[in-house]
Amino acid sequence: MCRVGVLDRFRRPLANLRVSVTDRCNLRCHYCMPERDYVWLPRTNILTFEEIERLVDVFVSLGTSKVRLTGGEPLLRKNLPDLIALLAEKPALTDLALTTNGVLLAEQVGALRAAGLPRITVSLDTLKNDRFLALTRFDNLSTVLHGLECAASAGFDSVKIDTVVIRGMNDDELVPILEHGRALGVEVRFIEYMDVGGATQWSMRDVLSREEILRQLASYYGPILPLEERTAAPADRFTLPDGTVFGIISSTTQPFCGQCDRSRLTADGLWYRCLYAPTGTDLRGPLRADANQAELRDLISADWLARDDRGAEDRLASSDRSTLISVETLQGEPHLEMHTRGG
Ligand code: SAM
Ligand code: SF4
Ligand code: SF4
Repeated sequence: MCRVGVLDRFRRPLANLRVSVTDRCNLRCHYCMPERDYVWLPRTNILTFEEIERLVDVFVSLGTSKVRLTGGEPLLRKNLPDLIALLAEKPALTDLALTTNGVLLAEQVGALRAAGLPRITVSLDTLKNDRFLALTRFDNLSTVLHGLECAASAGFDSVKIDTVVIRGMNDDELVPILEHGRALGVEVRFIEYMDVGGATQWSMRDVLSREEILRQLASYYGPILPLEERTAAPADRFTLPDGTVFGIISSTTQPFCGQCDRSRLTADGLWYRCLYAPTGTDLRGPLRADANQAELRDLISADWLARDDRGAEDRLASSDRSTLISVETLQGEPHLEMHTRGG
């Protein structure tokens, strides 16, 4: 297959695709799914694994080399290892990863590894049972921690912990979470709280900035040094005095839109060129109307060539940082939700 990379209007490649395999979730994190009721995508619209694979092949032909499976909670998708096996055997996909909340990880980790998944990220915001319950409305922190332990010893090329840091919620747990990761040999990445999708209670006051995170860790560990790396990865990485490496994703206070090579495919086949984009491109329609690979390729490449999104930078420059999307609007258009779009 001919692989000609396509560049957008800021010369950013279409290198990185996040594929949401379901909009459903078994947790209700306060910063992502705070409501009681949600409008779910119709099941008949959810892409089959074969449909996802066909679209991934088109993306690969346009320069995509990295795919991350996400959701909702991806481990709720039945037979997910079958999709992983389809993707893992594509030589052009040099990076295949999955992000999970870890609830179902212990029972599935063997099948995920056997299917060829090389990298996994587990979201973990607290090590305290009562806090986990308050944050997610479910009392299963011990299950998540067990899943993480199983992943750490399952032979993945890389296991990471992602921690959304929210002032007054878990900003006193940076050191314990870093220590927990260190004990397991797992790199921790702290994520600034973002005003995306269901984060309707978001306020800049609740964001612990990258600078504050670094200050807090340096006051405990001593001098922290940045790792000199030139990548399009969202995390800036740092080393503690003993060499332990961790990351910070400062999407809110220091966005990295200038290097952003990421786009997102929802479980029902809408393609978004930015986390903040109000609308996406319907790929399911043409796919199910028997569009051939060349037609799909033309559709995707035309939209990527026209891409000029810099959503997080626009938000940072905006003088109005009140609620980005109202609950009513989210209920009318579930594709605006983070759990639908994939984190
Ligand atoms: N359910 C899986 C999980 O939680 O890992 C995968 C989907 S989740 C939408 C992907 C990532 O988005 C998670 O690490 C989650 O913490 C992050 N996320 C969700 N809402 C966020 C917000 N408002 N700000 C920053 N990160 C957020
Ligand atoms: Fe939490 Fe992930 Fe579910 Fe959102 S999709 S509620 S971040 S577990
Ligand atoms: Fe990329 Fe949009 Fe996020 Fe900026 S806001 S880093 S352009 S997805």
